[in-house]
Amino acid sequence: MDNCSVGIDLGGTNLKAGIVDTDGKILHRLSVKTHSDADPQTISNQILELIAEIIRSAQAKASDIIGIGLGSPGLIDKTGETILFSPNLPRWRNIPIKRMVSERFSKPCVLENDANAAAWGEKWAGAGKEVGSLVMLTLGTGVGGGIVIDNKLWRGANNVAAEIGHMVIQTDGPQCKCGNRGCVEVYASATGMVRRFKELLKSGIPSLLKVSSEITAKMINDAALQGDKASLDVIEETGRYLGIALINIMHVLNPEMIVLAGGMIGSGELLMNPIRQITTQRAFEASYKDTKIVFSQLGNDAGIIGAAGCLLKELEIFV
Ligand SMILES: [Zn+2]
Repeated sequence: MDNCSVGIDLGGTNLKAGIVDTDGKILHRLSVKTHSDADPQTISNQILELIAEIIRSAQAKASDIIGIGLGSPGLIDKTGETILFSPNLPRWRNIPIKRMVSERFSKPCVLENDANAAAWGEKWAGAGKEVGSLVMLTLGTGVGGGIVIDNKLWRGANNVAAEIGHMVIQTDGPQCKCGNRGCVEVYASATGMVRRFKELLKSGIPSLLKVSSEITAKMINDAALQGDKASLDVIEETGRYLGIALINIMHVLNPEMIVLAGGMIGSGELLMNPIRQITTQRAFEASYKDTKIVFSQLGNDAGIIGAAGCLLKELEIFV
């Protein structure tokens, strides 16, 4: 086991680590539970301990490890050193985690936004291997975004680009967690789809599912596969909203590929069909005809692989 990196994917419920080789394969993995209301000290300690533990349990020598890539939710400062603010881990802010990790292990460390890291993972070792430009949307509890242009992550002037989940697609739409209205996230996240499904049931539309706070996106998907019309309708509507977001992305960036990831892609073609339909109907033909819309290949591993890949890219080991 030589020439490996440690990839870390920090989430609101899990902290995951992998030993990743230079081809983007995970050779060894570990994870621990996190709590979204944990204090920064606890989270930092968990990260440091998990890195030490994965190196130990993989029986890797210190010289086998090139460095550590760390994917974290939230906004990262312009220098890539510190987490400024994370909506899903509200107390995880102003933390110089990059320096803490590199000092503790005497190895280079790269800190990247988690959605950017996942997009880079797909570009490096997943669906986007053959393309130079891609946009990735991670459709989970929220909607994360990452943009790769000319084989590089696009981070923007202040390192906060690609907040695709907060692109407004309905000016008077429902309130988003960010304070704005009608963001992609309020329609196309799992939370957004469940909210609209409950509204549909309350309006009296019959369904296999009953109005209850227990409904999840997976339950809606399962009911849709059994032919439940309300569930089919709400997934189709989600696809149409996503399609509108994708049209905007195509018109602005004309990427070679758009990758959809996250729990919501469990709906498969039920989600993809309305996306394809509306983009074909409404986008400029020249903008959509050479843009492949695909599902993620790396699934939940994109964050770990991508974090390791961001380190290698930074060190110019993978260009
Ligand atoms: Zn928003």
